[in-house]
Amino acid sequence: MTEELDEFTEDARAWLAERLPRRDGAPRRSVAVFHDLPHDEERALIERIQAWQRTKFDAGYGGAGLPPLYEEAFAEVEREFETPGQHELTSVSTALIAPTVQMFGTAEQKELLVRPLLRGDALACQLFSEPSAGSDLAGLGTRAVRDGDEWVVTGQKVWSSGAQFAGWGELITRTDPEVPKHRGLTAFLLPMDSPGVDVRPLRQMSGGSSFCEVFLDEVRIPDTLRLGDVGGGWAVTLATLGFERGHSGANADLGGGFAELLDDARRLGRVNNPEVRRLLAEVWAAEKVAVVSAQRDRESRLAGREPGPLGSLRKLAWAQRLKLVSEAAAAVLGPRLVADFGDGSYRWTEHVLGAPGYRIAGGSDEVQRTIIAERLLGLPPEPRADRGVAWKDIPK
Ligand SMILES: Cc1cc2nc3c(=O)[nH]c(=O)nc-3n(C[C@H](O)[C@H](O)[C@H](O)COP(=O)(O)OP(=O)(O)OC[C@H]3O[C@@H](n4cnc5c(N)ncnc54)[C@H](O)[C@@H]3O)c2cc1C
Repeated sequence: MTEELDEFTEDARAWLAERLPRRDGAPRRSVAVFHDLPHDEERALIERIQAWQRTKFDAGYGGAGLPPLYEEAFAEVEREFETPGQHELTSVSTALIAPTVQMFGTAEQKELLVRPLLRGDALACQLFSEPSAGSDLAGLGTRAVRDGDEWVVTGQKVWSSGAQFAGWGELITRTDPEVPKHRGLTAFLLPMDSPGVDVRPLRQMSGGSSFCEVFLDEVRIPDTLRLGDVGGGWAVTLATLGFERGHSGANADLGGGFAELLDDARRLGRVNNPEVRRLLAEVWAAEKVAVVSAQRDRESRLAGREPGPLGSLRKLAWAQRLKLVSEAAAAVLGPRLVADFGDGSYRWTEHVLGAPGYRIAGGSDEVQRTIIAERLLGLPPEPRADRGVAWKDIPK
C-alpha cells in the first residue's frame, strides 16, 4: 500500500509538472490568510480555481473517487507548484460538503451534487452557525416546519463563508423543539436562489468579506432535498465538522510562513536579531512538526486506524502555527507592520489580522481542547447542564 501511494505521488508530481510552474520553496507574494478582493475579482479567482478543479477531476485527481489518503497525498504534492490559489468556498464544496452528501445523500442527491461539487461545477456553503449557536452548535434555532412535501424554514445563519457565491447550502435546522437539542435537528440541501433567502456579506477587520449573514424567511424546501433522516441532522453535522477538522489541519499552506518570513528578514537586515532568530526557528520547527504529524497520521490510517479526534489536534496545531507566524512577522517588521513604508512589508497586516479567524473557524481553540481532553486523553467530561432537557426548555 505504501509503495502504491509512493508511485501515485510520483505520477501526480509528473502530471503537475507538465501543467504548473514549480514553487521550489520560493516565497509567495501574498501572505494573507483571507482574501481582500473586490467582489468581481473574488468571483474571478473562484472561477480560476473551479477551472483547475475540473482539469484535476477529469484527469482522475482532485476528488474523482480517490480514497482520502491519496487525496491528501495529491494535495501535498500540489503545494510544490504554483496553483491558481485557494478560496474557502471551493475547499468547503469539495472537502466538506461533497463527502457529506456522498455519505448521507439519496441516489438522486448524490447524482445532483457529488460529482458537480467535486468537479468544481457547483459550489456549496455551510449554513450551520447562528448568532446564538456557534460552539454550542446543537443549540441552533432556525426552524423548519413540515408542510406536505415541503418544509418551511425561518431563521438566521451567520459566518457563512462564501455564501454570496454559492449555489447551494448545507443547512442545519431545528425540526423538533420538544426533544433534547442534538435529537431535534434535520439537514437540508438548500438552493441559495430560493425565494426568502437573503445573503448579506460581512466586512472583516482584514478587509474582505469572506463570510455572510444569511436570513431565511419562510423558505420552502422540498422534502426530496432533506439530507439524512428527520431528526438525524446532528449525525450529518458531525460528519461535515469531522471533514472540516481533518481538512483544516491539512491546510498547512494558508497564509505566509517560514519562507516568506526569512525573505523579509533578510531584506530588512533583521536576521541577526536574537528575537527574530528565535521566532524564525520556532516557525521552522512548527512547519516541520506539521509535516511529520501529517505523515504519522497518514501512516496510522494506512495501518487501518480511524482518524477520530486526531483532527482536533491538527486543527489546533495549525491555528497555533498561524498565530506564531504572526508573532514572528511582528518581530521581523517592527514598525513596518503598522505603517506602510511602501516596501511591501505592510502586506503582513493581512496575516496578522486574518490569523485569529482560524482560531475560531471550524470550532474554536477552546472547543478543540475540550474534544482532545475528553476523547483523546479520557479526562472527565465538562458539566453539561442541558443534557436530556428538551431544546424548548433550555434557557436562551
Ligand atoms: C473565518 C470564519 C469562517 C467561518 N465560516 C463558517 C461557515 O462557513 N459556516 C458556519 O456555519 N460557520 C462558520 N464560522 C463560524 C464558526 O464555526 C463559529 O464562529 C465558531 O464555532 C465559534 O462560535 P461563536 O462565534 O458563536 O462563538 P461562541 O461559541 O459564542 O464562543 C465565544 C468564546 O467562548 C468560548 N467558548 C464557548 N464555549 C466554550 C466551552 N464550552 N468551553 C470553553 N470555551 C468556550 C469560545 O472558544 C470563544 O472563545 C466561521 C467563523 C470564522 C471566524
